Amino acid sequence: MIPDRLPDDPQNLPGDPSTTQRRRMVADQLSARGIRAARVLAALERIPREQFLPPSVGLRAYEDRAQPIDCQQTISQPYMVARMTELLELSGTERVLEVGTGSGYQTAVLATLCAHVYTVEWYLKLLHQAVFRLEQLGLLNVTYRCGDGSLGWPQQAPYDAILCTAGAPALPDALVNQLGPGGRLVAPIGPAYEQELIRVRHTANGLVRDTLFHCRFVKLRGAAGWQDGSPGS
Ligand code: SAH
Repeated sequence: MIPDRLPDDPQNLPGDPSTTQRRRMVADQLSARGIRAARVLAALERIPREQFLPPSVGLRAYEDRAQPIDCQQTISQPYMVARMTELLELSGTERVLEVGTGSGYQTAVLATLCAHVYTVEWYLKLLHQAVFRLEQLGLLNVTYRCGDGSLGWPQQAPYDAILCTAGAPALPDALVNQLGPGGRLVAPIGPAYEQELIRVRHTANGLVRDTLFHCRFVKLRGAAGWQDGSPGS
């Protein structure tokens, strides 16, 4: 866990426009809409979202929406990142699997809040960009893999928390099976045009599945996803 490193970064100095945008984002988009977990709010207030988008986007990175990134993918909306992270209930000791690294922004949030992140991305180009960004921020508690994350990452299982950031037609069994005792899994499940956010908890009495709210994510590819193409390009 690297809880206290980012606040010392130059971009977190008072008066810095990026810091101001982040504070505004946390107040207007997250706190005002019911995000309560203090650690989650603090993480989003620290991580410079603009560094996960092309430089031309600038401080528009803090707008209340998902935005396009390379390979026809998206960086998730700040509220969605916060809400999904909150649902994982991270205390700082967890090993977390993330399926769909994308820009690496959600990965950075997770890396700030848990012990270690294992992240899998379909596109090598996105993965390379994400590794560079996280290393620049000094977030080194992350292991990366290019491949089909719909099958999870069995070699590193079990996980205390699993976050899938792309929409699957059905809950992938492999991900549920890689959840350790007490673990939490959050994933968007349903048709390509609209999904429901699902949380599965591995409790002493078995698996408990909650359906939370409607959402819209890019497609999860691969064997337990929409099965188009092969990873790595
Ligand atoms: N959390 C990311 C969201 C990226 S969008 C962010 O905020 O930037 C979802 C990502 O999942 C895309 O980068 C997409 O390429 C990736 N993806 C889709 N199917 C995948 C699969 N089977 N395995 C790994 N990554 C996958």
